[in-house]
Parts: sequence; C-alpha cells; structure tokens
Amino acid sequence: MARVQILGVSKRYPGRGRDAAEVVAVDDVTIDVASGEIHAIIGYSGAGKSTLLRLVNGLERASSGRILVGDHEITALSESKLRGVRAGIGMIFQQFNLFHSKKVAKNVEYPLIVAGMPPAERKARVAELLDFVGLADKADAYTDQLSGGQKQRVGIARALATNPGLLLADEATSALDPETSQEVLALLKRINAELGITIILITHEMEVVREIASRVTVMDRGRAVEQGEVFDVFSAPQTDTTRRFVATALPTAPDPEHLDELRQRHRGRLVSLTFRDGDVDQPVVFRTLAERGVGVSIVHGGITDVGGRSFGRLTLELIGDDLKVEHAVAALGQEADLEVLA
Ligand code: ADP
Repeated sequence: MARVQILGVSKRYPGRGRDAAEVVAVDDVTIDVASGEIHAIIGYSGAGKSTLLRLVNGLERASSGRILVGDHEITALSESKLRGVRAGIGMIFQQFNLFHSKKVAKNVEYPLIVAGMPPAERKARVAELLDFVGLADKADAYTDQLSGGQKQRVGIARALATNPGLLLADEATSALDPETSQEVLALLKRINAELGITIILITHEMEVVREIASRVTVMDRGRAVEQGEVFDVFSAPQTDTTRRFVATALPTAPDPEHLDELRQRHRGRLVSLTFRDGDVDQPVVFRTLAERGVGVSIVHGGITDVGGRSFGRLTLELIGDDLKVEHAVAALGQEADLEVLA
C-alpha cells in the first residue's frame, strides 16, 4: 500500500584504523517502488543490500539522498517520529529473530503490546494472524519446537500484526530448504495479492526473484547497476553481474567444456536459440527447418518462467547436407535470436 522512493541515496562508513579509506556501502542508489509492487534487490554478499534496507526503515541514517515511504520522508524524521512510522513497516529476517523462550502467540502479540492495543483486541488479532499464516494450531507451542518454515511464518505473522503498508524481507528464505522456501514465497505472494502490501526483498538467490518479484534492482559494490521488469532484466542482461545471476537459474548456452562434449556426440551444426515470450514463435522456427529439409534435435537447454513470462534457450543440432543447413541457419537468423556455436 505504500510507495517507496529511494532517491540518490548513499551511505558511507568511516574506514577502520588510521588512514583507512571510507567504505561506500550504498552509492547513489535510486529505486522507485510502486505501491503494491514486489521489488527484489539482488546482489552478492557485500553489495550493500542490507545497508539499503536498514536505511529504508530508518535504523540507519543515509549520508545523502532522500527516502520516502508513503508520505513519510524517512530521511527527515526525528528518532521519536521514526518509531511511529516503523509500525507501518514490517520486517522479516533470514534467522527469523524470534523470542525463543516465548510461545508463538506471544511472539506475534509483541508488536501489538508495543503499539498499545488492549488485551482483548490483541488476542483476537493474534488468532486472526496465526490463522492467516496457517499456524492456528501452534499458538501455544514454543518457537524452538517449530521447523524453519514454521518459524518464518511466525516471523511473517508478527511483521503483519500492525497492518503495515510495506514489508521488508531480508534474505527471508535463505536459511530454508527449497521446498519450504517455495511455501514461504507463496505466502509472501498471497500477502501481496490479498492485502496489497508493498514488498521489498533482498536476496542473493536468483530463484527467489524469478518466483515472486515483478521488478528487480541488481546491486553491485553499492551501486544499482540494472533495474526494471524481472523478465526484461533477466532475458537481456546488460552487466556481468546480472549475467552471472542469470546463469544460476535460467537455461543457458553450453559453456565451452560442455560444448566440446556435445560435439563428440553430435556431428551436425550446433546453434543456440533464445526464446523470449511474445518475441519468437516456436512453431515458426521448427517449420522453417522442416521446410528446408533440415532435421533437428534438441541437445541442451530448456524453457522456464521468469516474472510470469516464458524464457528459453535451446541448443539445437541441425542435421542435413551442408548447403541446406547453411540456408536454414540464414533463414532462422532472420526470425530468431540465433547464435551459431563455432
Ligand atoms: P550485503 O547486504 O549486500 O551483503 P552490506 O550492506 O552488508 O551488503 O555491506 C555493504 C558494504 O558495507 C560491505 O563492504 C560491508 O563491509 C560494509 N558495511 C556494512 N555495514 C558496515 C558498518 N556498520 N561499518 C562499516 N562498514 C560496513
């Protein structure tokens, strides 16, 4: 429900020790997150993601630039005013950050106590929240009796307690196994869709971005190096950092070693085709080959979903006499994003 504007924001830390250079953890970053959007910030360790998140909820002060969450200018508020605004910003963490010696219900109730809600109302609200995250039967369990996925659900219920317009997720699924990660991501999607809460999540996992985000910012050494719709950024990466992330979760052309192996087994011409949703028509590709009397077998790659659209990269072996293959490659090059693997 809240739009978040990060406008030319930097955070510099003094260097440690004498003459040490200062660290520019966040370097002139601008991100405009629309109300109701799920925005992922992806980057390797040290890229500045968590610093940026701490600036958004005002746990740290920006060195320069402005941050607005809804109508509140976070970078201009006093510490006491910030405390009020923070009730409108939920946060979940990689390590869940629960009170282990307290029951599940108490953990979820805590922010409501801080907000001064009367006990009877609190009880009803906690029940409603636990029901929403599928833990109605765990109210009286201690958090250390729960699985990782259940702990994160408690963290989510607690973060939602005060009806925030913005949810910040700090590597929320990085400590979970793949299946549990999927469940938690599905819950975050539901929160976004049903409650309209804006979500900013930071992650080093491409899979998370692919699953859940609509827009993404790629960070590298403090800077926002790429930004846009998830599909656009990952189907046509512009920087090496983005290309490295893409290679972890999307089908790629074979690397040189694998290409050598493929050549041992496939004598025909190898070409790599990139399919972007709405851009290349698969039937046209296969018809073009058939019409020219060229046989085809798929030897590597695949098709997958990115930001709700399909993206694929297939390595094809083209089989037939040289001239026919030559013509087919020329014709395909007109219709598709094609690379001949030399
Ligand atoms: P990420 O979350 O992407 O791993 P961080 O925001 O934690 O990145 O860190 C970005 C850079 O800022 C790193 O070089 C880190 O060492 C530095 N940094 C973070 N917090 C501090 C701090 N409190 N004091 C000094 N340097 C810091």
